[in-house]
Formats: sequence, structure tokens, C-alpha cells
Amino acid sequence: MVSVLWTLNLLVSLKARRRQQRSKDKKQNLLIGREATNFLLNESLKLRVVDPERSKQLYSDARKLAERGRFHLSKRHRILFCKTCKTPFSNQTVKVRLNSQKKQIHYRCLICKSEKRFGYSSRKIIGEK
Ligand SMILES: [Zn+2]
Repeated sequence: MVSVLWTLNLLVSLKARRRQQRSKDKKQNLLIGREATNFLLNESLKLRVVDPERSKQLYSDARKLAERGRFHLSKRHRILFCKTCKTPFSNQTVKVRLNSQKKQIHYRCLICKSEKRFGYSSRKIIGEK
């Protein structure tokens, strides 16, 4: 009887240990995925004027990675790309307007004419966590 109990305890602890290991692996994968997407997006931003097609490709790769890893892109990067046509924003591809009554920033893509809005306040700083 004692031996049975002992083995049961061992099994439980093994299961718990496996669960812990799995959550550790998940966290590790998340970190790696975030680092990879940030790298891709930064490369894409560097190439946005020189090679727009490559830049779009890098952005869509990063988005696929984020979808599979189930995490969001950082807010800084979400603002800098058009979600519908995947164009990286530069001074030639975007029009930015502020709405002070609603406290919103309007980004209008000049290629697909889609618009997105972000709220702003005096406390929030974009690009920081
Ligand atoms: Zn667009």
C-alpha cells in the first residue's frame, strides 16, 4: 500500500514537472517569436523606401509568425504599417491628422485609402510598454 502511494505521488509530481516544463517552453517560444518578429519588422522599416515589395513581404512574414505564436505585434509596429494593403508608412504613403476633440490620431493610407484611428492622451507614450 505504501509503495502504491509512493508511486502515485511520484506520478503526480512528474506530471506537475512536465506541466512546468511545458509552460517554460511556451514562454521561451514566445520570447523567441517576439524577437524574430521585431527583427523582421525593423528590417522591413529600413527597406521601406529602397525596396517596398521586400518590405511588404517581411511585414506579412512577421504577421504570420505572430499569428502562429498567438501574440500581438508591438504598438509601435502596428502604427507604422497599413493592415489592409501591408504598405509600410513613410512620408509618401500616409497622411496623419489629429482630432483634438475626440483625442484621436487618424492615419490615412494613400495607396488603399483605408483609415485607422488611435486614441491619445497626455499620459500615454507610443512605442513604450
Ligand atoms: Zn493601405
